[in-house]
Amino acid sequence: MRLECHPTGPRSCYDESKRLGETLCMAYRDRENVDVRIARIFNTFGPRMSVQDGRVVSNFILQALGDAPITIYGKGNNTRSFQYVSDLVDGLLRLMNSSYTMPVNLGNPDEYEIGEFAQLIKKMTGSKSEIKLVDGVKVSEGLQKTIKYFSAELKQRDFSTRNLYSPWNEK
Ligand code: UDP
Repeated sequence: MRLECHPTGPRSCYDESKRLGETLCMAYRDRENVDVRIARIFNTFGPRMSVQDGRVVSNFILQALGDAPITIYGKGNNTRSFQYVSDLVDGLLRLMNSSYTMPVNLGNPDEYEIGEFAQLIKKMTGSKSEIKLVDGVKVSEGLQKTIKYFSAELKQRDFSTRNLYSPWNEK
């Protein structure tokens, strides 16, 4: 299962530091009168990206160039917008030269479904890759465990003996 936007996952120091950065900017603006700008940078791509970047543009291009499966997390109908690196730099310069101190999104208004994006990259690279959907945990599997848990809980006589059941201890 890929968890997004929670505070303890492997990428959380990145997500949470962005939020904290904005909080600090506003606090410094309001308490210390510091002149701040807040840019929310959307998915950016271009030459000189790290091969180990791990995000969708580099993953898909590297997979396609190697004729390896292009891995779509989930069903591929979620959407993202992508901006070219030099457009981001232009946007940052314009924001810095403005007097606007609230958060500003810097991205591209065109949204792609991730499945459609995989097709586009496959076509542009002339790749033989298959496009593969990588499943997260299915809701029905989780529900099965949860239903077992509640049915065991209901068999307990009082609250002090409840919450001792765990699906991982099942025989
Ligand atoms: N994604 C994917 N396969 C990959 C990498 C990412 O399907 O190999 C999907 C991911 O689930 C998300 C989207 O592409 O829906 C963008 O992910 P990325 O990590 O590039 O950026 P972010 O989620 O921070 O926008």
